[in-house]
Amino acid sequence: MVTIVVIALPDSLFARSMIGPASRPDDWQVRLGRRPRAVTLLDVLSMFSFRTWTAYDRIVSPLAIIRRPNTTSPPYVTYILQTNGSLREVRMSRRIVVVGGGVVGCSVAWHLADAGAGEIILLDREQLGSGTTWHSAGNITWQPTPSHDSSVLYALDTIARLERETGQNTGWLQTGRLSLAQDPNQIRRYESYHRDATIRGIASRMLSPEEAGRLNPLLNPESASAFWLNPLSGRVNPADLTAAYARGARQRGVRIVENCRATELEIQSGRIVGVSTSTGLIAADAVVVAGGMWSRLLLETSGIALPQWSVEHFYVIADVTPRLVASTPSFVMSEHRVYGREEAGGMLVGAFDENAKTIDAAAMPDPFAFTLFEPDWDKLAPYFQSAMEIFPFLADAPIRRFINGPESFTPDGSPLIGPWPDVQGLFLCTAMNSEGVTWSAMAGRLTAELVTDVKPSFDTSHCAPARFGRQAADIDWLKRQISQHATEPARRSD
Ligand SMILES: Cc1cc2nc3c(=O)[nH]c(=O)nc-3n(C[C@H](O)[C@H](O)[C@H](O)COP(=O)(O)OP(=O)(O)OC[C@H]3O[C@@H](n4cnc5c(N)ncnc54)[C@H](O)[C@@H]3O)c2cc1C
Repeated sequence: MVTIVVIALPDSLFARSMIGPASRPDDWQVRLGRRPRAVTLLDVLSMFSFRTWTAYDRIVSPLAIIRRPNTTSPPYVTYILQTNGSLREVRMSRRIVVVGGGVVGCSVAWHLADAGAGEIILLDREQLGSGTTWHSAGNITWQPTPSHDSSVLYALDTIARLERETGQNTGWLQTGRLSLAQDPNQIRRYESYHRDATIRGIASRMLSPEEAGRLNPLLNPESASAFWLNPLSGRVNPADLTAAYARGARQRGVRIVENCRATELEIQSGRIVGVSTSTGLIAADAVVVAGGMWSRLLLETSGIALPQWSVEHFYVIADVTPRLVASTPSFVMSEHRVYGREEAGGMLVGAFDENAKTIDAAAMPDPFAFTLFEPDWDKLAPYFQSAMEIFPFLADAPIRRFINGPESFTPDGSPLIGPWPDVQGLFLCTAMNSEGVTWSAMAGRLTAELVTDVKPSFDTSHCAPARFGRQAADIDWLKRQISQHATEPARRSD
């Protein structure tokens, strides 16, 4: 006979009390449910050789909830300690570890928790958002195409829901986006986008040069022949969106552990059993790797070659006169591979580099939190020149900041989302091809669906992580492909 002291906690303390149990494997811990009451001593039969105890807040009205999670083989069994002292088995559950706390990993964790997928632990080797996410331009661009329709509409719904439920502002500003074209094919494409949008009741417009000029006082109306304005696009503050996902995840019981590096996947007989980390082993039934540019390094420790590589990706912020108002529509001119928007009164000008400079994640400084590369003025020059043709005022505008950071791409421009075929319980959600802020909501949702074995809301076959087969191990091929494909978002365009 073993005696356990059960301590009653007020509801507000419940979520906090869930943090940390697994780090003390020899503790006896019992957590209370949603309706805690003052309880005293309870006896539990010694036939249960419990070592670590955690609980769920989703199961309602028991006196206490007890779970045995720290075994390496699922299923984990959840018990409810009933008021008569007996234990009732209520459901199977799983522990899922998400590696990487950028905007993508935080979205995955939130979606998993929202789906009630089990006990979720999110690890980041440094701090949330400190990899690529913090310096993203944060544009969310809608267009009526398969890659930017459902995912963007879902992103907009998710942003609204997160702000409502967490109280965390994401910086979302719906400015609309002005797409400029000179090339007849590109003009036809925008005209067809406009027709599709109009049929769906979206207030899209083809503007005359004068109308376009009235939306942005810096614009040279003669710089393009066609101007398509779509109203649904805008931008967020990527760090704030990440914080909103993280806050929502914590509210649902996700344990977020920063400064904890996943060093190796633990795989036994073809299935995931845990993750080794800088602070010890964490047993798990499933692992989602959302480590941005470092995902490939982690998978390499298990002999898996992921078809992703990183390149330098950049934008600058220029101090323009006159100052722009925040609601000025963002712009893109795909033919010149340039895009931009207002930023703190100035103008952000970015490029999809034609021959992007590749980066080897293994050779990067470590740590790399909130770090950038040196400005590459030569790379910027031709794109800035094009931007000056569209916005002549840029010629006299001092450049206030040069943001040059890493971003992961794949050879075909689609992300890596889904299970790794040879390892049961291993999932990928990475390589967002410079659209990870836009994609974060949908990527998180699809991953949660795949992990919980629910039919995905959208076809994910083009995102299958192993779709390049053995070619993914050919680093020279990978670098060549990716250096070229970094321009893809501009060509898809957008
Ligand atoms: C200049 C620039 C402009 C951009 N503009 C836009 C834009 O306008 N719109 C848009 O949608 N996207 C944009 N992007 C792309 C977008 O920022 C990225 O796709 C997105 O931030 C990627 O998020 P992530 O979570 O996959 O990666 P990251 O933000 O890099 O997060 C990965 C996290 O994993 C952690 N990690 C890695 N390995 C481990 C490990 N072994 N153990 C534990 N933790 C680990 C890291 O510390 C990091 O915090 C831009 C990118 C750049 C560089």
